Amino acid sequence: MKHHNGIHHITVLAGDPQRNAEFYVNTLGMRMVKKSVNQDDPGTYHLFYGNQAATPGSSLTFFPWPRAVKGEPGTGEAVTVAFSVPENSLQYWQQRLEKKNVQSSDPFTRFGLTVLPFQDPDGLNLELVFEDITDAPSTDREGVVPSQHAIRGFWGISLRLTEKESTASVLQDILGFEETDQENNITRYMTDAPIGGTVLIEITDQQSGKNGRGIVHHVAFRAADEDHLADLRKQVQAKRLMPTEIIDRHWFKSVYYRVPAGVLFEMASDGPGYAVDEDPDHLGEKLILPPWLESKREQIENHLPEITV
Ligand code: ZN
Repeated sequence: MKHHNGIHHITVLAGDPQRNAEFYVNTLGMRMVKKSVNQDDPGTYHLFYGNQAATPGSSLTFFPWPRAVKGEPGTGEAVTVAFSVPENSLQYWQQRLEKKNVQSSDPFTRFGLTVLPFQDPDGLNLELVFEDITDAPSTDREGVVPSQHAIRGFWGISLRLTEKESTASVLQDILGFEETDQENNITRYMTDAPIGGTVLIEITDQQSGKNGRGIVHHVAFRAADEDHLADLRKQVQAKRLMPTEIIDRHWFKSVYYRVPAGVLFEMASDGPGYAVDEDPDHLGEKLILPPWLESKREQIENHLPEITV
């Protein structure tokens, strides 16, 4: 497999920010790695959760809008977020979810791996994928889930599409994925990244969805640095996919484009990372604003509901 780095982060629409934070931090044991605002709508939060080491490839981020209606996923969208967890953790997670009143479905096997499906409080489809990996990110930091069972980061993302070719060409020609496997209507694309290395394309008939909470907004793929990002952007342009300019997201630089099958893709640089503006031991504890919004801090803080986890 080509050496590329897979998924950088995934961003989803949520409802109530407090409920969202409780679920990802207290139930799933992820770490809030950044508490910030939506840079395109600074009156609302942008919440980032990751593994305890805040590794790229582990961050699931949310735009919570307390009054958002419940969404319905359709074709042309990313529909399921899968996390990688240690192979021997199935029983632990089934018991933990039950204790936290999260209903999970029966585990099943896909591509030889056990998968446990459930949903977050906004209806986002989640999966835990149980696998043995050797080069998993590690950290001394413990969350509420003991580290031998903890979420390592993403396993992958499932896209529900009516055809795979146009999206597969972006994954394979630009983002370093290779088609490795097929099972029923699902094709697996992989990079050799230990976390976030899989994209599944599930082919179905056209179904229209409804935007709202629980709907994936975009999927971001890793670029090594800004030069790599600029190079990837040129390759996207060469496919006539109309990428944005390089946008400074403060913790990374980003380029966005929609693939022809409908999913919004982003490419984001690994650096400078979530520790650029906070002590790495205390990520996510305070509201962090990008420098250009700092002058409006008081007004922004007064407007945002408090979150406690
Ligand atoms: Zn993003």
